[in-house]
Amino acid sequence: MPGRVVLELGVGAEDRPAARRIVAEDRDNVTLLTNAYVSRLETGADGRRVERVVVERDGERLELSADVMVVSAGAINSAALLLRSASDAHPDGLGNGSGVVGRNLMLHNNSSLIAFSNTPNPTKFQKTLGINDFYFGDGDWPYPLGAIQMLGKSDAVVIPFDDPDHPDPADLALHAIDFWLTTEDLPRLDNRVTVKLDGGISLSYRPTNIEAHKRLVAKFKSLLETMRCRNEVRDNPHYLGGKLGISAVAHQNGTVRFGTDSTTSALDVNCKLHELDNTYVVDSSFFVSSSAVNPTLTIIANALRVADHIADRLR
Ligand SMILES: Cc1cc2nc3c(=O)[nH]c(=O)nc-3n(C[C@H](O)[C@H](O)[C@H](O)COP(=O)(O)OP(=O)(O)OC[C@H]3O[C@@H](n4cnc5c(N)ncnc54)[C@H](O)[C@@H]3O)c2cc1C
Repeated sequence: MPGRVVLELGVGAEDRPAARRIVAEDRDNVTLLTNAYVSRLETGADGRRVERVVVERDGERLELSADVMVVSAGAINSAALLLRSASDAHPDGLGNGSGVVGRNLMLHNNSSLIAFSNTPNPTKFQKTLGINDFYFGDGDWPYPLGAIQMLGKSDAVVIPFDDPDHPDPADLALHAIDFWLTTEDLPRLDNRVTVKLDGGISLSYRPTNIEAHKRLVAKFKSLLETMRCRNEVRDNPHYLGGKLGISAVAHQNGTVRFGTDSTTSALDVNCKLHELDNTYVVDSSFFVSSSAVNPTLTIIANALRVADHIADRLR
């Protein structure tokens, strides 16, 4: 029936089609399964189509099927899902004949920096300002430095996480002006997501382009006096912020890169896995470079682009 989408749920492979079927009568209906962990994507024998999405939910194993599959679990988890879905047809991970799935993980060089103003900063909606004046370089450094933007405003609840002994966190928060500095990091094959035998995820990441980031931070600090902030060194200097490490994966991207060459990319330009006919990846996995801006608007724009492509395909 045109416009009809059927999701079949079965407990185990034997009893499909399932006792329970979720049927959406048209494409305007969306059925959302919460607390549903996708553990594997399974293909038919020829390896060309994902035919089963294996889901763990409330202690039950479910299987879903659909004509077109879209993976969007975030760059780390999408790569991990493809790697976990290795099979005879895809021995190195689903759609991973190129070997790039999980590789080229980028996180950005990010630093949070908290400046303290002589005058109070009572703003509620601070995260509305960004400065790209040094994005492409600065004077004697002709290479890109990155972006400076505001962070969400510190408050009396947040301050003690970094400076638990401060006698008056509310006052400190009132004077805080919170900045976020981002410099591009570069794709490296060895910066990667791997999956351990027990299914756990492991990240290997060596930062790149550090010099540019150091220069961006130095440039920013040199502007503080002009901005009438004083760079206060308190008993706990960590409160002044600093470069975020591997645990800061907020801007994760690049692990299932797209491209025209199936030997160096996992996805084609429509974000479909080169080696499969019905499976797309539409989160930041597809990035081939990270630029120095927050990723989400790019993720959304690309997802809409791919959605148009899939809609055309289903017409
Ligand atoms: C503190 C913080 C602040 C941020 N601020 C900004 C900002 O100001 N601007 C900006 O552009 N970006 C920001 N980001 C980044 C932004 O949140 C991400 O870029 C964006 O959410 C990525 O969207 P996504 O849909 O690709 O992935 P996600 O939003 O991560 O969604 C992936 C979903 O998949 C689910 N999932 C993962 N694995 C599985 C699985 N195996 N089975 C089932 N479900 C699974 C996850 O639970 C999650 O719901 C911030 C991130 C953080 C953490």
